Amino acid sequence: MRESIPSGQLSGNILVIGGGIAGLSAALEASEAGYDVFVIDRNPYLGGRVAQLYKYFPKLCPPYCGLEILFRRIRSNPKIKFLTMSEVVDVSGSAGNFDVTVKINPRYVDIAKCTACGECVEVCPVERPNEFNYGMDTTKAIYLPHDLAFPMKYVIDGSVCKKDECAKCVQTCKYDAIDLSMEPKTITIKAESIVVATGWKPYDATKLTNLGFGKYQNVITNVMMERLASFNGPTKGKIVRPSDGKEPSTVAFVQCAGSRDENHLPYCSAICCLASMKQATYLREQLPDSKAYIFYIDIRTPGRYEDFYTQVKEDENIVFIKGKVAKVEEGENGNLIVVAENTLTGEKTRTEVEMVVLATGMQPELSDINLPIKDLKLDSYGFATFDVPGIYAAGVARGPSDVASSVEESTAAALKGIQAAKR
Ligand SMILES: Cc1cc2nc3c(=O)[nH]c(=O)nc-3n(C[C@H](O)[C@H](O)[C@H](O)COP(=O)(O)OP(=O)(O)OC[C@H]3O[C@@H](n4cnc5c(N)ncnc54)[C@H](O)[C@@H]3O)c2cc1C
Repeated sequence: MRESIPSGQLSGNILVIGGGIAGLSAALEASEAGYDVFVIDRNPYLGGRVAQLYKYFPKLCPPYCGLEILFRRIRSNPKIKFLTMSEVVDVSGSAGNFDVTVKINPRYVDIAKCTACGECVEVCPVERPNEFNYGMDTTKAIYLPHDLAFPMKYVIDGSVCKKDECAKCVQTCKYDAIDLSMEPKTITIKAESIVVATGWKPYDATKLTNLGFGKYQNVITNVMMERLASFNGPTKGKIVRPSDGKEPSTVAFVQCAGSRDENHLPYCSAICCLASMKQATYLREQLPDSKAYIFYIDIRTPGRYEDFYTQVKEDENIVFIKGKVAKVEEGENGNLIVVAENTLTGEKTRTEVEMVVLATGMQPELSDINLPIKDLKLDSYGFATFDVPGIYAAGVARGPSDVASSVEESTAAALKGIQAAKR
């Protein structure tokens, strides 16, 4: 199914809010069982946060293999319709009969006409921070969200584009695909059940004032590390420090950066230990003379993930130190001093490293997006707590989870959604 901007009132059996791995999995399960599904996502592309990961633990395979398979299934499935750049602004009714008002924000690029040739980018004079790479580089005001974006269509950031004052892209586009006069559009979708799969955002590391993020350039976060290691990231996959482009010979990973902390995120995000171990392998593979230090409170690698932990521990240049990091200080030449207390020896340590990666946790998007669904119940952290008739949450919207568990829960949400549908 291709994306097209509809008008008027539409209907489907199931509406999925959020087109990340959880939402797409739920949509495919329901549609392949014969139900009509609408997926809406506020991004200009589908795939959610996993599209920004370099590799998946534990197999260390690229997430795009799995995403591509999902996109292929969506493309050939007439029962799934999706809308990007869209958000829910109102929901009324109840199970079996919801009316959902959706606002579609302007892309300023006609997706039916755009061939993704990229000529528009060359003439665009405006630069903006690239949020896909967590601000580590820039794009033009007209940009492709990322190299493997689905749909592979350009988009204009309306908040920075000079519109008619410039319009160079309009003159350059041979396909007449750019329309700077596009306005937001509102549609209504009738749905019998709703799956909420709005996922997560990284915890704001600037709130961790003792750990130096935003103060020292060579302190980055785990999501930034994913982008640094990715071939389509800001450094084309080279792991280098932001301050001087040097390959770091020593990197400290600070676990529970803000997590399990009453002042920040009181819960465990479940994946950060595994993510840091995975990222230590990125470093060691790319820079064989490098050394990684993982400072942790407890290592949490449940079930089959214990094998991954055992495997990573075999590398003597990945050093695990049980101790909470008290602070990160500035050293010389852009280096950093990690101050911690080793819980096993009682020793206070000062470890000098060339780069620090903060393992920040996943905060539910629902903690501050205020989805207009009156029956949706959230726990004190903003995760959807329990299912109300006709409304089912999946993936990290429901609780911190890895991809495998997010996909499993999506199947459950799809099955519940089907039961609430009348077909
Ligand atoms: C550093 C790091 C590394 C990780 N590495 C791994 C790994 O190797 N293996 C693994 O199994 N897991 C890993 N994870 C966990 C993995 O990222 C999550 O399990 C996965 O992203 C969950 O998918 P989701 O669809 O629930 O959420 P998301 O990926 O967040 O997708 C949610 C979607 O909903 C959309 N959305 C949000 N709000 C709205 C709204 N109001 N309206 C419309 N759309 C909305 C978003 O745009 C997004 O597309 C990692 C996590 C981190 C932090």
